[in-house]
Amino acid sequence: MSQNYDVIVVGAGPGGYIAAIRAAQLGYKTAVVEREHMAGICSNWGCIPTKALLRSAEIMDFAENAKDFGLSIEGQIKADLDAIVKRSRGIAERMNGGVSFLMKKNKVDIIWGEATLTKPGEISVAETKKKIVEPQGPKPKNALGAGAYKAKHIIVATGARPRALPGIEPDGKLIWTYFEALKPAKLPKSLLVMGSGAIGIEFASFYRSLGVDVTVVEVMKQVMPVEDAEISKFAQKRLEKRGIKIMLESKVAKVEKGSDSITAHVEKKDGKVEKITADRMISAVGVQGNIENIGLENLGIKTDRGCIVIDEYCRTNVEGIYAIGDVAGPPMLAHKAEHEAVICVEKIAGQPNVHPLDKSKVPGCTYCHPQVASVGLTEAKAKEAGRDIRVGRFSYAANGKAVALGDDQGMVKTIFDKKTGELLGAHMVGAEVTELIEGFVVAMNLETTEEELMHTIFPHPTLSEMMKESVLDAYGRALNA
Ligand SMILES: Cc1cc2nc3c(=O)[nH]c(=O)nc-3n(C[C@H](O)[C@H](O)[C@H](O)COP(=O)(O)OP(=O)(O)OC[C@H]3O[C@@H](n4cnc5c(N)ncnc54)[C@H](O)[C@@H]3O)c2cc1C
Repeated sequence: MSQNYDVIVVGAGPGGYIAAIRAAQLGYKTAVVEREHMAGICSNWGCIPTKALLRSAEIMDFAENAKDFGLSIEGQIKADLDAIVKRSRGIAERMNGGVSFLMKKNKVDIIWGEATLTKPGEISVAETKKKIVEPQGPKPKNALGAGAYKAKHIIVATGARPRALPGIEPDGKLIWTYFEALKPAKLPKSLLVMGSGAIGIEFASFYRSLGVDVTVVEVMKQVMPVEDAEISKFAQKRLEKRGIKIMLESKVAKVEKGSDSITAHVEKKDGKVEKITADRMISAVGVQGNIENIGLENLGIKTDRGCIVIDEYCRTNVEGIYAIGDVAGPPMLAHKAEHEAVICVEKIAGQPNVHPLDKSKVPGCTYCHPQVASVGLTEAKAKEAGRDIRVGRFSYAANGKAVALGDDQGMVKTIFDKKTGELLGAHMVGAEVTELIEGFVVAMNLETTEEELMHTIFPHPTLSEMMKESVLDAYGRALNA
């Protein structure tokens, strides 16, 4: 016998569980189907456990420089890898449990298993076949099991998985994905990271802090290729200063596997091939949507380049079926997934003033050391778009708080439309920029011009003062530079 709901969400990641909560808040009888871990990749194998590892790395870096702060730490500071990983896994588990609690609190039913869309308004749930590197996360208490379920609205939020390059497929032993990189049994002495997007650079930063000899190979002209070129160059220099080797415009063409190491054939821009041997390699060449085996073809749901095609309110081409989060395309970020979840459900409910997602205002953060954060157009993209621009810059070295923190290497860059004063983009590298960027995101959402930002008071002493100074600099009025 099938069970009936108003809304069923497939996948309990940040997209799925937020959609379920919002649907329940709006009075819908709601269920969420999850096959292996409540809270999805984000809390179990993505955003949160990586930040836990990076926090250990940050404290290690501080401790190593304790002398600069007038402190002495007796003996050598040692990283206990098992304890670091245990802490990270414990935090992931806590987040996972938190989402189960939220489902209960909001009276959302959890259906445990693997869902397939069978026909409009109906799914079938089977026991999970797929297993990732870990056993399944704990099955929430009172979860419903396999069977047929009906709902007027079905939201697909099945997320993404690591992308693999042909011939260089991760094997989980010598070539890792983020799963193995998050849970190493032992610290490699040397590591090659293929790809310098946020995931690759965060792992490079973490392992370097623990003393690993790290080489990053990137096919594009700059590290973190989506970031502003100037910010990327600044970050690259800092990363290199920390001892990370970076090879740009270079491609891992082939990998030979030894018994306990790999040798990568790295093709450089000039056509020469350099062989690099490392204990382990992390493949960080992006992710691809989980669109297979979920019955999209049963219903004729359109996909494009590995993602479900949606309109501005997350509707697919089939009535009553929606898609949100990573499976619905880039930017593949947790906050984008959550935002789409709310847009999708509120549109279903016929709420007034539902705004489509504005991808130009989705911030991006990389939590390496130094951190990088941005929103809006880069300088190059603004020029490409034919905008006449003003650019402001402010250096961390001229900010009292940064100097007091002992972290005075960084930059805040702002880009304005010369004619209208519209803030087009903000780009930052340095301490705490992942927390600071939201100030500019709010400003852009309010369609701020330089004038409002200049009239805004920033507390002293804070790193945020550099945001205002960067704006002032764009207009030749910086005060502390
Ligand atoms: C190492 C790493 C670090 C990251 N760091 C950040 C960061 O700092 N900030 C950020 O914004 N983003 C980060 N991300 C990206 C972020 O994790 C994703 O954007 C986010 O998890 C997407 O959410 P989602 O709900 O679309 O999918 P997911 O979180 O992938 O959740 C999808 C869920 O669907 C379930 N599922 C799939 N198929 C089925 C099925 N047929 N039946 C039932 N259940 C199913 C899966 O088990 C999974 O739990 C990171 C990713 C990685 C890998």
